[in-house]
Amino acid sequence: MIVAVDSHMHGDILIQKDKNFPTLYYEKKISGIIWSYNEEIKKIEDYIDYWNFLKNVTYKISNNSCPFFYKIGIHPRTICEELKEKRSFPDKIKKALEQHLKDKRCLGIGEIGLETEDKTEEEIFISHLKWCENYLPYDKRIGIHTPRKNKKAITKKIIDILSNFKSLLFQVIIDHVELNTIDLVKELNTYIGMTLQIGKSKGSDIKKLVSDDLYPVDKILLNSDSAREISTPYIDFIKNDLLEKNIKEKLIKENAIQFYDIKI
Ligand SMILES: [Zn+2]
Repeated sequence: MIVAVDSHMHGDILIQKDKNFPTLYYEKKISGIIWSYNEEIKKIEDYIDYWNFLKNVTYKISNNSCPFFYKIGIHPRTICEELKEKRSFPDKIKKALEQHLKDKRCLGIGEIGLETEDKTEEEIFISHLKWCENYLPYDKRIGIHTPRKNKKAITKKIIDILSNFKSLLFQVIIDHVELNTIDLVKELNTYIGMTLQIGKSKGSDIKKLVSDDLYPVDKILLNSDSAREISTPYIDFIKNDLLEKNIKEKLIKENAIQFYDIKI
């Protein structure tokens, strides 16, 4: 029986950087959803190779008691020059997205969104959403990245863009939400992700969120966003009793299973 679903992590990077992964996840019975993020992308073809690689890593590290899943998409920090010049999606990108979404371990698109106020980032983000409006199956999801820097202003911009895509909102999760952006995301009332990591949310923030009733507890998914190393605040939170057991289980596991319709 799974103890937690790490609803946003980077198992493809972890496996190269942290020798405790994936053993620690197996021992602690933590399953994971790997979101697309690759700093090495130089040309359009590289996205396609990367997503295929991601799929292979996902299958390789999955086992019956600890399944892993993945999402594909273009993170705003990984827009290559070739794509910048095109300013929209070439056919081969569309074809690759379509192909992966037929895979049972591919849970949807992500991470997409905005990192800065750059115009190209906005165009690529909107291209993704337009593509989703036409082609994303109803049972797949859309994971949105919000940045560390200038967080409130960029989150506001993301919300403004998303409000033009009302039909997609039931499929959306806005991630890396923090206490200071809760009021902004309330407007759309989508699912939200909170990241337990040094420099992002703390266990005490999650406790405050729940005890002050700042957001519906059925719509919050916790994650580690672990990439170069496993996030200790996330692992600690799974063990501690900061929250009542049934609420904690929703946040660390059940909401993710329900939102992504994961069969575990
Ligand atoms: Zn991430």
